[in-house]
Amino acid sequence: MGKALIIGAGGVASVVVHKCVQNSDVFEEIMIASRTKSKCDALKEKLDGGKTIIHTAQVDADNVDELVELINGFKPDVVINVALPYQDLTIMEACLATGVHYLDTANYEPPETAKFEYKWQWAYKEKFEKAGITAVLGCGFDPGVTGVFTAYALKHHFDEIHYIDILDCNAGDHGLPFATNFNPEINIREITSNGRYWKDGEWVETEPLEFKEVYNFPEVGPKDIYLLYHEELESLAKNVKGLKQIRFWMTFSEKYLTHLRVLENVGMTSIEPIEFEGKMIQPLQFLKAVLPDPASLGPRTKGKTNIGCIFRGVKDGKEKTYYLYNVCDHEECYREVGSQAISYTTGVPAMIGASLVIKGLWKKPGVWNVEEFDPDPFMEELNKWGLPWKESFDPELLELDLEKREVK
Ligand code: NDP
Repeated sequence: MGKALIIGAGGVASVVVHKCVQNSDVFEEIMIASRTKSKCDALKEKLDGGKTIIHTAQVDADNVDELVELINGFKPDVVINVALPYQDLTIMEACLATGVHYLDTANYEPPETAKFEYKWQWAYKEKFEKAGITAVLGCGFDPGVTGVFTAYALKHHFDEIHYIDILDCNAGDHGLPFATNFNPEINIREITSNGRYWKDGEWVETEPLEFKEVYNFPEVGPKDIYLLYHEELESLAKNVKGLKQIRFWMTFSEKYLTHLRVLENVGMTSIEPIEFEGKMIQPLQFLKAVLPDPASLGPRTKGKTNIGCIFRGVKDGKEKTYYLYNVCDHEECYREVGSQAISYTTGVPAMIGASLVIKGLWKKPGVWNVEEFDPDPFMEELNKWGLPWKESFDPELLELDLEKREVK
């Protein structure tokens, strides 16, 4: 039915490739292209032999001309960008130049400012409209499924959603003293930055990890959760009409945070370049080089993730609460595709989004966040491709007003 160009060959890309090959009715032909071609070849070697034809290529995704040449040679229906957020704009430019649909899992940030915002990508809306091509932004789990969950809740359960709490729990244990579950540079920056949530039409800034609660996650149990800023807050605050508040919470263990504090205190998480033996280096990039590769955590990680959204709003004049979530088991993911659940929960939605673009179900010229598409076909595919969702109409709730909260 279609052809996809997958850019990147890291943890998430590996899952995307596995899932495209499983979904060979839609993905007849794929090309895996990344900076290090040997990683693309290793994936091809592992997965060759099925119905999907796999090609590989070397590409510098910071270079628009190289990308254009690659796209023109392969002629994909869609480009799945699972490289790093720094490559979003060059890949979008190349899609515009070649008239090919685009999908990614993380919003652009300029490497030098480390500020992630949608404004750079939203600025392409008109250009994509004129070119008649679709860009699907943030189609991993969070952002991604969290936006689809919101669209689904709004379509089927609410007239208006007033409050959303997004809860991201990783109860996996890899047995190492300190490691990040995905790209360390992006992961550590997300946590060490100031927190932010949206309330009554304004952003409320917090200190990094200032607010902590305990949440009793279904199938996982009680965990410490911390309020963070996360990129889907920006698009959901804009796209959900009538919303009064949206917050994002993530679990961290005390051990993880203690290591992080020490690294921060000695300057290892800084992105300010320093001179080292005559060369300028960024401490955080150096730290990334010495930390375990997230892909290597797959075989050692045990436990589950539980990611979902608690919605509060009104239906037919009555107050209503609704919790939609997915529970994913690290070891089952590893058995199936050789990756832990963080890469799995990101790669599966990226494959699903791309399949809906190819099938024409998520095709509309412009630049869109996932909550702006029909959630129903996506929700069906989640159940089919390994991320079944569960719902509860009576979940444990978090205090709406942070100042009034009870510290448990
Ligand atoms: P990795 O670091 O494992 O992989 C990134 C890949 O991109 C590597 O193969 C890397 O090449 C390649 N790459 C980097 N720069 C370039 C370039 N200039 N040209 C070509 N290839 C390049 O990251 P992950 O797989 O963990 O993450 C991938 C993306 O998924 C990130 O954007 C991340 O933010 C996002 N993500 C989204 C989540 C969500 O739920 N929405 C959750 C987790 C991640 P090389 O192998 O040479 O280093």
